[in-house]
Amino acid sequence: MTNLAAILDDTTAKYPERTAIVFGDTRLNYAQVNGAANQVANLLVERGIKPGDKVAISIPNLPYFTIVYFGILKAGATVVPLNVLLSEREVAYHLDDSDAVAFFAFEGTPDLPIGDRAWAGFNQVEGCKEFFLIKLDSAAPEPMEAPEFYGPLVAKQSPEFTTVERDDDDTAVILYTSGTTGQPKGAELMHRNLRANAGLGPSLFGADESDPDTYLAVLPLFHIFGQSVIQNTAILFGGTIVYLPRFEPDAALALLLKEKVTFFAGVPTMYWGLLQALAQSDGGVDVEAIAANLRVAASGGAALPVDIHRQFEEKFGIVIQEGYGLSETSPVASFGVRGEPVRVGSIGRAVEGVELKLINDDWSDLAHDPEAIGEIAIKGHGIMKGYYNRPAATAEAIHGEWFRTGDLARKDDDDYFYIVDRSKDMIIRGGYNVYPRELEEVLMTHPAVSLVAVIGVPHESHGEEIKAVVVKNTDDPTTEAELREWAKGQFAQYKYPRIVEFRDALPMTATGKILKREID
Ligand code: AMP
Repeated sequence: MTNLAAILDDTTAKYPERTAIVFGDTRLNYAQVNGAANQVANLLVERGIKPGDKVAISIPNLPYFTIVYFGILKAGATVVPLNVLLSEREVAYHLDDSDAVAFFAFEGTPDLPIGDRAWAGFNQVEGCKEFFLIKLDSAAPEPMEAPEFYGPLVAKQSPEFTTVERDDDDTAVILYTSGTTGQPKGAELMHRNLRANAGLGPSLFGADESDPDTYLAVLPLFHIFGQSVIQNTAILFGGTIVYLPRFEPDAALALLLKEKVTFFAGVPTMYWGLLQALAQSDGGVDVEAIAANLRVAASGGAALPVDIHRQFEEKFGIVIQEGYGLSETSPVASFGVRGEPVRVGSIGRAVEGVELKLINDDWSDLAHDPEAIGEIAIKGHGIMKGYYNRPAATAEAIHGEWFRTGDLARKDDDDYFYIVDRSKDMIIRGGYNVYPRELEEVLMTHPAVSLVAVIGVPHESHGEEIKAVVVKNTDDPTTEAELREWAKGQFAQYKYPRIVEFRDALPMTATGKILKREID
């Protein structure tokens, strides 16, 4: 079992009739999903796509994502999932950078014209030859000269296909890493990386194919967290995936209830959104019924504020398991241990098959001292092959078997890790290191604060000054000056935020991370 797509073949062989996919009123069982993925593989072979070729996709959380993803893998090709929010220029950059030869894109909506941007970007890239447009009602193409429509093309294909063998170390997916950092680079994830990560289901979450979970797929599937922890884990353990293309708290709550979701994974801003929606619903949401089904709540991608943790447990009666990982590590590196009390602010311990350690700038190990802060380095089954076509960036990131993350952390005597910050987010004010995360945690406890990002802004004499940009809870009368005074009392003189500014919203990535570099 080397090709990652074998997880779909194997589950289909065991449970052909089991529901794999739910979207609105559409329910497809494993045999149907596998047959549809086989049709995609046959289409690709017909168009001359060869094992190792790169095929890009720009599809939101819809059943098509999973079907096309596995179809590409079955043909032995490499999937290049693109963020559906990319502009035309960015689409062209990603297609070109990944050497994609074919592209599947969803039509989008009037306010998010994914298909138009994809088509325009595609036309700028000579090496990319095939474009398939997916329409929700795919069977009825409009009279348009180009592009080609996915629906009628796959409908003609046979639903039988024998998955192409791949080597363990062949690249299954090229994932462009989060827009929070510099120029996007393609992390090459191997078949064995992704297979191993999905295989963590039983040890991390108690996944069991004889009593399968129902997963809400609201984390974007083009990002590694949703793709591996939701989609691939669900497929490997015969679960059901319920698709929600865009995070809307009320819609998410309604689906949790209607589809009896047992497994929810989200980034902290989603948990925050759910709690806000509940608070505003005036008891109109049947929290008890949702809680009765919900078995797993997982958070990752960014630090989970302690306050959200506490409120969620109060409302739903389950502890959120916080995990940590990166696109480059496929992703899970550490997780809170199921059944153990939460260590507040911790990203848990290294998961099975993975090691974590703290290093200095020169890769040397940090001597163990419970107070010491170092950069997390990771070793184990998830580490990518490298950045596609970027040997220098790969050599900077990978040393022997270790990958350096750029995240600063400390660890306790039981090997639980605590993220302090991204190394590049650290603010240096007048020679003192200030970790924004620490300030954000404390600011979040003030009743006026709904969301906050602490950043450094240039300052003549201190080098950097500390600024807190805050989204306020509606109705709270606190002023900027009052919040600043309050913060002054909470921190050492050198680190309290001298500037406090209220805004209506903070810029976010599609995965719900606050885009700090866009805040000034
Ligand atoms: P990405 O490659 O988009 O998944 O981003 C990975 C980055 O997300 C990591 O390097 C961390 O900075 C951040 N991250 C992921 N999980 C956590 C977590 N539980 N707490 C804090 N930061 C996290």
